[in-house]
Amino acid sequence: MVEKILIVEDEISLQETLAYNLKKQGYEVVIAGDGPSALEVVRNSKPDLILLDIMLPGMDGFEVCRKLRSEVSTPVLMLTARDDEIDRVVGLEVGADDYLTKPFSMRELIARVKAMLRRVKIIRDEINLINSGADQRSFFEFDKIKIDLGRRELRVDNKIVNLKPKEFELLIYLIRHKNQVLSRDQILESVWGWEYIGDSRTVDVHVRWLREKIEEDPSNPKRIITARGAGYRFEG
Ligand code: CA
Repeated sequence: MVEKILIVEDEISLQETLAYNLKKQGYEVVIAGDGPSALEVVRNSKPDLILLDIMLPGMDGFEVCRKLRSEVSTPVLMLTARDDEIDRVVGLEVGADDYLTKPFSMRELIARVKAMLRRVKIIRDEINLINSGADQRSFFEFDKIKIDLGRRELRVDNKIVNLKPKEFELLIYLIRHKNQVLSRDQILESVWGWEYIGDSRTVDVHVRWLREKIEEDPSNPKRIITARGAGYRFEG
């Protein structure tokens, strides 16, 4: 199966360079020059990965990402012009999976794209396995926390809690390795699939969000425990 990548970028020269290099790697490429057409392409041609520039005319990349996330869980690699901490944090908050700061090398971009697609495939295989019934553990329950893996659904106190795709994957990863201390790098590699050691604060930010959703008192967590200097542990 040829994987399809959507490039959302208004600069024609960068559009062309990206498309050329991705096609050379054997990917199918679709292009959108602004937010509204990007949303339309996503609905119609269902890409496997989205490269999303932040600086777009009209609707910026953050807004596009927010809108995308309300419809699909396709991985998003954000292209930021500045190495700006705020851009990175906002990018993660609106649901981007990774970001790359301009200027970047094509080698760097291709490596990141491959890592993200590989991660998607692992998750897809895992979900297929669950759906086929081969994995008996498709439900998890810890007191008020109930998870239905097949439906990718979390309930706390019987109420459905909305999780971003990465929050869900992180939660499942922690639960699958419950009562074990997992280092931030281990979590980054397994949940984000980054080949290099990324920014471990990404993990901290997502843990904070998860605690706000599943812990009775997020400042005094009983489920996702910080192992000082070592990482995190799910108490189960
Ligand atoms: Ca641009």
